[in-house]
Amino acid sequence: MSLSLIAKSVKASPTLKLNEKFAILKEKGDPVIHLGGGEPKTKAPMDAMLATVAHVNTGEVRYTPADGIPALKQAIIRYTEEFYERKVRPEHVIASSGAKQALMVALQAILNPQEEVIFPAPYWVSYPDMAKLIGALPVAALPEDGTFYPNIKDITDRVGSYTKAIIINSPNNPTGAMYSEEFISEVVEFCEKKDLWLIMDDIYHRLIFDGRKPINCFKYTKKKDENSKLIIINGVSKQYAMTGYRIGWAVGNKKVIEAMSNIQGHQTSGPSVLLQKAAVAALNGLQSGVESLRITLENNRNIMIDLLKSFEGVKVTKPDGTFYCFADFSVYEKNSNKLSEFLIDKVQVLTVPGKEFGLDGYLRLSYCGSIKDIQEGIERMKWALDPGSPNELYIGDRKLVRDWS
Ligand code: PMP
Repeated sequence: MSLSLIAKSVKASPTLKLNEKFAILKEKGDPVIHLGGGEPKTKAPMDAMLATVAHVNTGEVRYTPADGIPALKQAIIRYTEEFYERKVRPEHVIASSGAKQALMVALQAILNPQEEVIFPAPYWVSYPDMAKLIGALPVAALPEDGTFYPNIKDITDRVGSYTKAIIINSPNNPTGAMYSEEFISEVVEFCEKKDLWLIMDDIYHRLIFDGRKPINCFKYTKKKDENSKLIIINGVSKQYAMTGYRIGWAVGNKKVIEAMSNIQGHQTSGPSVLLQKAAVAALNGLQSGVESLRITLENNRNIMIDLLKSFEGVKVTKPDGTFYCFADFSVYEKNSNKLSEFLIDKVQVLTVPGKEFGLDGYLRLSYCGSIKDIQEGIERMKWALDPGSPNELYIGDRKLVRDWS
């Protein structure tokens, strides 16, 4: 079959594939534990659920403007004022079907084929494929000092005549690293000096630990409004546990938002009105759910980090935020795809191979699930990997016997 070059260059999202695998195993009744998940398990805010139902009851579920309904834009404007101390207008805002679409239309609006977009590694799985979808080239910047915290030189060293944009995701999926205020200010200043687009993927910016406060990248811009090439991406998926609602947004200059809206208008039209209404309610409603999710995640992180200490030779950097931990398991197996497969096959624990994020030998482990799943998942992994483990392990009434060394 003659598929397009772009189709051939793009692979399925490994995290979505894993979710499918989890659903299939679960359906079969297998006692599978998902440590590869990318979504909080708490309920969506009551305000959001009620708003969805209230709109369904009107029976008027129609098309929306390509860039989002005015009420959602207003809620995003208020959010931008609160977290970025920036007064923007509706023409600076687009609501999309998830931060994913906001990012995709942003890249489509700013990149030409063959142009390059740089992002620190480890990186979110979708960045390289999103770039490839427009024929642009992804350039991963792995910090040279071996940490998960890039410095400005890691970025500037990769900038060339084809560089058009930089994406920064902090706190980061998959490492949970929150980059320093100094690094963010340097990136903002550098992009302005070099006239590059800077996309800040702030989807986890409120899910941070140990007393940290969200960083406001706008603080460091000198170029104001229409001259600024800073695009902020955010959404309700993570902070409000509303992944399935598929509402994200972008804030940027008028021209880029207009271009993004034109593209989105042809791609999908505006997001569903039901889901936008829910997002408005989440953004304007009671915020205590965000804080309780943050506290739960911080507690889960502590539990996971403690449990991982029992693995000899596994190196872990304590995450500053998100609900991911990116641990170096190369002492057991350097090929992370193989290791991840092994853990599914032998003990039914799902993890995401580090290779998908640009760093082999690592596994991404999520702590967005229950404490029981974290504890049991890590216990099973330990049993599978530690040669000193007893020969047998019981999962419910199933007996597993080690047939490997
Ligand atoms: N950016 C990052 C870094 C993410 O981890 C995700 C979700 N996994 C997204 C964007 C997309 O989020 P949404 O559900 O809003 O599309």
